[in-house]
Amino acid sequence: MKKRVLVTGGAGFIGSHLCEKLLGMGYDVICVDNLFTGQKDNIRHLMNHPYFEFIRRDVTGEIYIECDQIYNLACPASPVHYQYDPIKTGKTSFLGALHTLGLAKRCHARILQASTSEVYGDPEVHPQPESYRGCVNPIGIRSCYDEGKRMAETLFFDYHRQHGVDIKVVRIFNTYGPRMRMDDGRVVSNFIVQALRGEPVTIYGDGSQTRSFCYVSDLVDGLVKMMESESGFTGPVNLGNPGEFSMLELAQKVIKMTGSKSEIVYRPLPQDDPLQRKPMIGLAGQKLGWQPKVALEQGLEKTIGYFRDCIRTA
Ligand code: NAD
Ligand code: UDP
Repeated sequence: MKKRVLVTGGAGFIGSHLCEKLLGMGYDVICVDNLFTGQKDNIRHLMNHPYFEFIRRDVTGEIYIECDQIYNLACPASPVHYQYDPIKTGKTSFLGALHTLGLAKRCHARILQASTSEVYGDPEVHPQPESYRGCVNPIGIRSCYDEGKRMAETLFFDYHRQHGVDIKVVRIFNTYGPRMRMDDGRVVSNFIVQALRGEPVTIYGDGSQTRSFCYVSDLVDGLVKMMESESGFTGPVNLGNPGEFSMLELAQKVIKMTGSKSEIVYRPLPQDDPLQRKPMIGLAGQKLGWQPKVALEQGLEKTIGYFRDCIRTA
């Protein structure tokens, strides 16, 4: 019998690529999503697949289905969207983890949590290894997301210790690619859409802050490798591309690659915006045989192509 896999947040940016990959691997895929930031268009091409099922539901409520594996991705990920209703974001992170863990316990399913580099906050250790415990503001505007994700990790490890649930925790670093929304608000989509429209490219702060960008196909490979990894390896494990770029470098690259005449404008740096971020990925290499393959320029090329089409057909 085919393995049944639940993907919460499966209509989102990463989730839709993951559903597609799992179907290609021969799994029976159930996508649960409330479509807050996800879109039916992301999964429309999967709707007629005989082993794909979409259930519109909110993970803050209980979920009763039968499954063998669970990927818990449901949670808005862009600062603009997770700060829109921060109380709801906290609930989604905590209750979503609680309900999917309860489901995993009842079904004896293996469960993977999409955690984040945000658990390291504004890091004083650079680059970030999994052993670093982070520097997170518990009361700031990013806290609903950062602390929500930290609490979810805690719950995962408590279900593992207390009930023997088979858990896998990955910490995802900035990931980009096709199917990000034009109004997602994160930096890669913002810069590309602004450049393609000839609008000013908005750098927050002086542009010296850094991020490390992972292309979505690499990330999804890592998620699946983690889910299929040896039992007993719980993580947390970092998944990301260690190539580190300042936001000014990224803006210049995007403007050049799109052939845009956009100017760069500077806007205030939001509160608690991390100044630097770069994953150490030795553990993923050693335990999963994983490392990213797509360089930033290659990934940007594909993403620019995607947004060109979106703008043309909008
Ligand atoms: P996304 O916003 O495109 O996807 C999140 C999905 O979750 C959306 O489809 C949304 O509708 C759904 N969702 C949100 N709240 C829900 C709820 N209460 N009930 C049911 N569904 C709900 O973002 P993404 O970039 O695809 O992120 C996916 C996951 O990966 C998130 O958990 C995010 O925290 C994590 N992550 C992403 C990144 C990244 O750079 N993309 C980095 C770190 C962690
Ligand atoms: N950023 C920016 N211009 C934008 C959007 C974001 O300069 O239009 C900056 C933002 O301040 C941050 C970095 O880009 O320093 C990455 O932001 P994003 O929202 O993509 O992700 P996160 O801060 O969660 O890593």
